[in-house]
Amino acid sequence: GAERSKNVLILMSDTGGGHRASAEAIRDAFRIEFGDEYRIYVKDVWKEYTGWPLNDMERSYKFMVKHVQLWKVAFHSTSPRWIHSSYLAAIASYYAKEVEAGLMEYKPDIIISVHPLMQHIPLSVLKWKGLQKKVVFVTTSIPVIPHGQFIKSLFHPRVNRCYCPSKEVAKRALYDGLEESQIQVFGLPIRPSFARAVLSKVADLTRHNKTINLYMMDDLRKELELDPDLPAVLLMGGGEGMGPVKKTAMVLGESLYDNDQGKPIGQLIIICGRNKALASTLESLEWKIPVKVRGFETQMEKWMGACDCIITKAGPGTIAEALIRGLPIVLNDYIPGQEKGNVPYVVDNGAGVFTRSPKETARIVSEWFSTKTDELKRMSENALKLAQPEAVFDIVKDIHGLACQRGPLANIPYDSTSSLTNPTTMY
Ligand code: UDP
Repeated sequence: GAERSKNVLILMSDTGGGHRASAEAIRDAFRIEFGDEYRIYVKDVWKEYTGWPLNDMERSYKFMVKHVQLWKVAFHSTSPRWIHSSYLAAIASYYAKEVEAGLMEYKPDIIISVHPLMQHIPLSVLKWKGLQKKVVFVTTSIPVIPHGQFIKSLFHPRVNRCYCPSKEVAKRALYDGLEESQIQVFGLPIRPSFARAVLSKVADLTRHNKTINLYMMDDLRKELELDPDLPAVLLMGGGEGMGPVKKTAMVLGESLYDNDQGKPIGQLIIICGRNKALASTLESLEWKIPVKVRGFETQMEKWMGACDCIITKAGPGTIAEALIRGLPIVLNDYIPGQEKGNVPYVVDNGAGVFTRSPKETARIVSEWFSTKTDELKRMSENALKLAQPEAVFDIVKDIHGLACQRGPLANIPYDSTSSLTNPTTMY
């Protein structure tokens, strides 16, 4: 029969920056790998199709991350209830029709959930509609969670694949009841724009010879209006600009200035994400060193490519991107529960250090830029060893394989009649 392009629906929620970045990564990799074969829709479905409390998830997330202690409480005690399936079931029975309408509108052949809380309702809708055997359903970007925490709802037994970013997460998935055949470990899906830059960064390791990359870094610095010569540190805190960014910036502003010589030994780039208050506070300050303050940036690969190291909270997305760009990492914070496991991964593999103290952070960076350039170089090499720029391509190729196994996809029986008779029994 006539081939039509297949529809891929990527479900995300604009909480933090990580979920959007994963969704964009998968979308771009599909385009590069398969061109017109797939039509990709990235949707914040809850926001578009449901009312409170699901569309409030973003707001509560922002509230929680700003009050980290609360988050901690939620994660360790109430969170299992917060994301507990009976709670979801209650919400689902109320909003199922809207969610279903959303799924039906895009007529997906493949559904990809890049958010662990976005599996239950769509999977239930597929079940009611009898589409489970027809539509491929996969999840990515499951966070690393320490053992002993009850977060069973991160792993749904009816997914066709669960793409785990690491072996630890895969182990946890097995333990929580997924079959081995449902699990693949490729790494976190990172936007291909980072991957394309990896070769030139490798060249950067021989930076003292005038390599291609030196020119590239020069170009980037010119484009971004940075100092062409001074070593550069990137300071950020995820999509929401979290963590001790302001304090760290202020201490760095002092420690990257050589008082004896009367000149800076480095420059500072601060990306505040959606934290507008932070950006305007930092913009109003006076600096002795070159400082650039930015809001939410859409081309992070350029900023990372123009810098020599990064200071960030332990967000999985930012870490994976920094590793691809070979940036040594100072981890200065983590969201309790979901990000804690990322710290030893970076530190034990020699790609960075962890400290909560802005003073300590500033000391480390100014040493990297003066007396300990060897350490900076070694950590950059270690970072590149951990980089997994191909993960996103492995993921989309695997999804393509799953879709092909389903045979011709042109006759998925999407129709407009609702079959929701008793949604509350879905669990
Ligand atoms: N990010 C971005 N622009 C910004 C700030 C952040 O694109 O101005 C991206 C960043 O590159 C990364 C993601 O947002 O891909 C942050 O993800 P992470 O897992 O580190 O933390 P989250 O913000 O999800 O808590």
